[in-house]
Parts: sequence; structure tokens; C-alpha cells
Amino acid sequence: MREIIKEDPKKIKIDIQKIHAFRKRDKSSLIPETITRHVEKAYDLFCQFAVPVSIVTEVTCSQFQSIYSGAGLNEPRAPLDDIMTDNAVYLLFAMTLGSDVSLYISDLFKKGEHLLGHLLDEICSTGIEVFADEITGMCFAGEVSKGTLNNNDIMLRYSPGYCGWHITGQKFLHKYLKSQGIGIRLTENCYMEPIKSISGVMIGCSTSLHDFNKNYPFCIDCRTKTCRKRLVVNGIRNSS
Ligand code: SF4
Repeated sequence: MREIIKEDPKKIKIDIQKIHAFRKRDKSSLIPETITRHVEKAYDLFCQFAVPVSIVTEVTCSQFQSIYSGAGLNEPRAPLDDIMTDNAVYLLFAMTLGSDVSLYISDLFKKGEHLLGHLLDEICSTGIEVFADEITGMCFAGEVSKGTLNNNDIMLRYSPGYCGWHITGQKFLHKYLKSQGIGIRLTENCYMEPIKSISGVMIGCSTSLHDFNKNYPFCIDCRTKTCRKRLVVNGIRNSS
């Protein structure tokens, strides 16, 4: 299965109140009018210039192992080594908002419109994550309806460049996905262009497999602890 899914940017459910500029002011009673006005303008630009599209391809466990191994540069111990099992569903993915919106952000900064540029950048970063969540939810529902997963399972995403999966893994992932078909290309350093793009693997399996201990050597330097936060969000762990 290789599926290309396009989305109307207006249908991506971005919670505007949660974007960075508002989060910083959670405790203040009033959001400056200039911020509100610029957020609205930035959201309009997102709807006008973002072209959300994703590509999703199912692979077997052994195919994913080979893609994940890449050039042999992954950390010796990493979460994906512990999660991988034959009893899981593996969906490679790449998603982008297209080049127009990224170019628009650069132009805003070049023209000195830093506030609008920053807000559009924030909305795009939130938008691509929400888009990814929607696609993941859709794929999970599809697997449940096929009977390959059940409602007690969960599907989470992992990406090259994080948690021990070396960034050069992008080369193997994108070659397999043929993601140039949706306009994504890799730089020499394996970063994606357009910049508002994400890629990796969705793994659907029992919740316990995703609930690994964060005791890998590189976790000491991790500032986000994203793996913990999403277990909380998905109700697998409590916040304490
Ligand atoms: S603590 Fe950070 S580096 Fe370690 S697995 Fe979790 S998200 Fe990845």
C-alpha cells in the first residue's frame, strides 16, 4: 500500500490559543491586541499558502529493520530496537505543508516582519503536527477496521534524528517512500526541504511496547522528554 493523502489546510484543527505566543501569556488576563491581530493574519496566511500532503507506505517488520539499520550509525541501544516486533504494524510516512508557506515565512523575516513571520512559523509547526496526528489516527482506525490492530493498541510516530535513530536514516526512509513525489527533498545533511515537513514511521502495537524506560545513554541530554509526554497524553502513564 502506498497512499498519498491531501488535506485542506482549513480542515486542520489548530488550537490557536495554544501556539507559543499565547502559551507564554497564560497567566496574563489580556493578550495584546497586536498579537491577536497578527495571529489571525498568520492563520489566514496558513490557510492560503499551506498545501498539506502526506505519503504513507506499509512495510513489514524485516523491511523496516533494514530501513532503520540504514548506514549502521544508530545508537547501539535505542527505543526502536526494543519496540520492534513481528506483531506490530509499520507505516512509513512523510508529510509536508509545501514550499510556498516556507518561502512566505522567509520573505516575512527578510522584510523585517518578525512578529508575523514568527507566528506563521509557529502555526505551521503546530499545523504539521496536528496534520500528522490526524493521519496517524486515520491509519490506526484503518488498521482496527482491518483487524490488524485492536482498540486497546496504539499507534505512535518515531523519526530519524531523534531517540537514537541517526539522521542519515532519512536517506533510506525517503528513498523507500519516493517522497520526492510529494515535493520533499533532502539536503546533504539529511534535512528535509520544504522545512515544514516531518517523516518517520508509525508503529501500531500494544501500549506496553511503546512504554519503554527512558534509560538510554542519550536520554541524559534530552530536554523535551517527548516520549513521556505522549504516554501521558495517550493515557498510558499518569503525569507524576
Ligand atoms: S527521554 Fe528523550 S531521547 Fe530518551 S527516549 Fe525519551 S524522547 Fe527520546
